[in-house]
Amino acid sequence: MKRCAMLVLCLFICLSLLAGCACEHTWVEADCVNARTCSACGETEGEPLGHTWINADCVTAKTCSSCGATEGEPLGHTIAQRQKNPDAIAATVTQVEYCTACNEQLASETVPLTTMIQDGMFLFTPNEFMERLTNFTDKYAHRFTYEFILSDIGLAAYVYVGDKEVILQFFGRDSLPLTVYDLDSPSVWCVSLLEVGEEDAALRQCFLMACDPALDKNTAYRVDTALSAAFLNALYAGEVFAYTQYNDLLYETTRIGDEMLGEEFSMKFINIYASDFRETEEEKPIEL
Ligand SMILES: [Zn+2]
Ligand SMILES: [Zn+2]
Ligand SMILES: [Zn+2]
Repeated sequence: MKRCAMLVLCLFICLSLLAGCACEHTWVEADCVNARTCSACGETEGEPLGHTWINADCVTAKTCSSCGATEGEPLGHTIAQRQKNPDAIAATVTQVEYCTACNEQLASETVPLTTMIQDGMFLFTPNEFMERLTNFTDKYAHRFTYEFILSDIGLAAYVYVGDKEVILQFFGRDSLPLTVYDLDSPSVWCVSLLEVGEEDAALRQCFLMACDPALDKNTAYRVDTALSAAFLNALYAGEVFAYTQYNDLLYETTRIGDEMLGEEFSMKFINIYASDFRETEEEKPIEL
């Protein structure tokens, strides 16, 4: 009986030892930098998986999509500026700082307009320009009405001031005529006030202010006086004049021909201004 008990004890001890020897690995699966590893004994199997890199962008460094490891630095934004939302009545534009790579808007500021011409184009559509002109005429109590028409030289507006009618003509780039389809397109290159007489000074000054956000009423009066004098001295009635702003103080009038109409848009500001003083030729001396 004692011998039997000893046998059982021996068997038990052997079985216990055997169980201890047959290690069941506790595997931790491989990740980017570690092979499959047993957490109990440290044995490994296979290779690490390696990182799955996503390239760096403006705000994020090169990053592994599996483990989130990063390498290097974010690229940073590539900053540029653009203008948007010109406001015809307030004569402002929103200056936007944005990234050319990711297009994110970084900053924006509303700034006053100094010119109506940008990148060679007028900022406003014909509809917006007429809205602006209406605002000036209302402000200075020179009420007028208008209607868009298609004249011989393209899109125009008949402007009625009292019983008087004048024509406002829109020109596209390179003097190309505009059509009624351009009413809401900023394809205008310049605006001309045609067939205005001496008695329309108030309208002309409103028109000048509508074309040039830098003009106040007094300066508009001064510019208009200079332009009128230039017309009276012209050899041909109905000539086209350009009015150019060089800086805040200096204005110059230049007689231009049709062939120059399409070439002047690189100037900071140009306002085409035409008039017909034939009716007043007898009253005013004409210098030759
Ligand atoms: Zn193990
Ligand atoms: Zn990784
Ligand atoms: Zn960016």
